[in-house]
Amino acid sequence: MQALKILLASSEAVPYAKTGGLADVAGALPKELKAMGHDVKLVMPLYAQIDKDKFQLKVIGSGSLSAKIAGRVENFNLYEDAREEREFDAWFIDNPGFFDRPELYRDPKTGKDWADNDERFAFFSRAILESCRKTGFIPNVIHANDWQSGLVPAFLKVDPAYSDFAGVATLLSIHNIAYQGNFPRESFAKLGLDESLFIPGQGFEFWNYLSYLKAGLWYADILNTVSPTYAKEIQSSNEYGYGFEGILKDRSDDLYGVLNGIDEDIWNPAKDELIPAKFTPDNLSGKAKCKVALRKMTKLPMVRKDVPIIGIISRLADQKGFDLIAEVADEMLGLDLQIVVLGTGDQKYHELFTALQKKYPKKLSVTLGFDNAMAHLIEAGSDMFLMPSRYEPCGLNQMYSLKYGTIPIVRETGGLADTIQNANPSRSTGNGFTFRKYDSREMLNAIKFAVEVFRDKNIWEVMMLRGMRQDFSWAASAEKYGELYHKAVEKKQPVLA
Ligand code: ADP
Repeated sequence: MQALKILLASSEAVPYAKTGGLADVAGALPKELKAMGHDVKLVMPLYAQIDKDKFQLKVIGSGSLSAKIAGRVENFNLYEDAREEREFDAWFIDNPGFFDRPELYRDPKTGKDWADNDERFAFFSRAILESCRKTGFIPNVIHANDWQSGLVPAFLKVDPAYSDFAGVATLLSIHNIAYQGNFPRESFAKLGLDESLFIPGQGFEFWNYLSYLKAGLWYADILNTVSPTYAKEIQSSNEYGYGFEGILKDRSDDLYGVLNGIDEDIWNPAKDELIPAKFTPDNLSGKAKCKVALRKMTKLPMVRKDVPIIGIISRLADQKGFDLIAEVADEMLGLDLQIVVLGTGDQKYHELFTALQKKYPKKLSVTLGFDNAMAHLIEAGSDMFLMPSRYEPCGLNQMYSLKYGTIPIVRETGGLADTIQNANPSRSTGNGFTFRKYDSREMLNAIKFAVEVFRDKNIWEVMMLRGMRQDFSWAASAEKYGELYHKAVEKKQPVLA
């Protein structure tokens, strides 16, 4: 396959800044694309959280760049990761007024989105294009991700200022359709585009709001989302499409589902430096040590050695199915199990888990916060992992769990449906426990089934090993992204027969 110049625009990426799965994807995909021979660069905002010294960030070129937003000129510096050991090239857009803040998207004081997110990410999108121009790195494809860079494909198509980008193709990846970047109609004036472009029912307008995600869905050459099942679900109904089901159905021929991979340099019990004992399918002894360490860290008492621990690591948001847990919490915690929760998010779920922990201190440990090292220990030390999501575009933790011999219990939706098959112990098939309906009784039954199967050590171990040996590495998915980039380029410049 012909090598391409690719610019991956993302609002977060490992190892620099992370709030969720997008960061894992944006930090893993460029490594694989580079290995495939593509000339790839990541571009993201320079947030306060990014350690400039650790990553040896250096300013590119001399003098600052600028982008016009909301009628003002905003200056910025473009930084790059100058470490020799960096695994891919990365650019950082530095505008402290917009990005030097305690959190990426919301104000921790109010718990609400930053009031100027419209300006922050419109600026980010324009700054990306200015950076390409200034450095002379004009890619074949810009790969935009979610609403935060959704305006890039739109600017390229409708703003005459970018006519020099006429040959640049765009791919927009949808990591979660519920996060749409919708702003009051008045925000449109800040984009610096002709007012006549805000047309009801077209690219920028969504129920009389300005939508950055819709602009991306409308103007990008090719679209994809992060699993085949989610690609179908978001076209099927408002329940999954969140209002975009119509436009996605219209663009069905351009919409693909590519399952995320997992970064096996980072999530791999054979070489994970963040866990107290490593293990492999051939030698599982380290896993028991991780369970002991997890108990110690979470202060969960050891009632008996063979009580299973269920792990949960999650943004505490409605999407993730915590209302199901709330409905049957007492019954669930009455089972022969212990539960470890690590998460942060909505206040109501902070309250729910804090109250449950008070009630069941010997059975439930709750850590409210974001803690990467603890996430690794939970994956390694738990026996099961619970993801009862209402919807799940791809989900990464169920794949990490399989790798760590931690058997997932999931609702059959999106990427969870594509990666987890329900256990059938007598036939020796399946890699997890699944339930279909979004229903707390069904979830509870799946958990009960898992606890029952857990009692048979042999059957359980065979199932663990089956999951640990599955291949979810990025290579296959990156290959598919390579194909999508080519499709986008062809669409942009149709090959003459
Ligand atoms: P989403 O992107 O919807 O949040 P994913 O399953 O795709 O869900 O990815 C979540 C990623 O964020 C995983 O790598 C997970 O381990 C991590 N994560 C989520 N919450 C926390 C937390 N509180 N502490 C540490 N890591 C977390």
